[in-house]
Amino acid sequence: MTRVAQAEETRAGDRTAGDEARAGEAAEAAYPGAPDGFQRLWTPHRQVYIDSHHNAAGPPQCPFCAAPGLGPDDSLVAWRGVLVYAVLNLYPYNSGHLLVCPYRHVADYTCLTEPETAELAAATQQAMRVLRQVFEPAGFNLGLNQGAVAGAGVAAHLHQHIVPRWAGDSNFFPIIAQTRALPQLLGQTRDRLAAAWAALAGEAEGGSR
Ligand SMILES: [Zn+2]
Repeated sequence: MTRVAQAEETRAGDRTAGDEARAGEAAEAAYPGAPDGFQRLWTPHRQVYIDSHHNAAGPPQCPFCAAPGLGPDDSLVAWRGVLVYAVLNLYPYNSGHLLVCPYRHVADYTCLTEPETAELAAATQQAMRVLRQVFEPAGFNLGLNQGAVAGAGVAAHLHQHIVPRWAGDSNFFPIIAQTRALPQLLGQTRDRLAAAWAALAGEAEGGSR
C-alpha cells in the first residue's frame, strides 16, 4: 500500500469513527438522558412578543407604533403627549417601569427632531416625578438601548427606559437577567400612573395661569 493510500484509509477510518460517535450522540439525544448541569428559565412569552412584531404573514408590526392606537382596555399607555407618549413596559424590570417613545417609528436617537428630543427629555423628567409620587422609589435607571446588540428588545423603534429602583431591590442583575417578582398587575399600575400624570399636568397648568 502506498503512503497516499494508507493516509486515505486512515482518514476514512477517522470519518467512520466520527460518524459512529455522532450517531451515538443523536441516539442519546432522542431520550431525556442525564441532566447537563445547566438550569433553564423557559420564557415562551418572549417568543410571543418577538413573533408579534416579526409576523411573516403580514407587514412587521411594531408594538410601539401599535400601542397608542389600542383601546383603553388593551393599552398600557400612561400618558399621551404631542410627539411622544409614555407606556408601561410589558415586561418590566421593576414595578412602574415606563418607556417614553416618539410616535414616529425611528430607531436612532440622532434621528429625532429637535422638538421630539425636547419632548422626550421633558416626558422623562415628568415620568420620574409621577413615579416618585406614586411609588416613592429611592432612585432610577434611565437609558436608551441603541441596537439589538446593546439589549434593545424592539431595536427599530426608539424607547427611553425609566426604571424605578428601591434600596434592597437587589443589584443591577435583574436588569440584565430580566427576571423580577412584581407585586402589582400592569393594568393597575397603568391606572395609578395615568391618574397621577394627569393630576400633575393639571397642577402645572393651574400654576401657570
Ligand atoms: Zn414603530
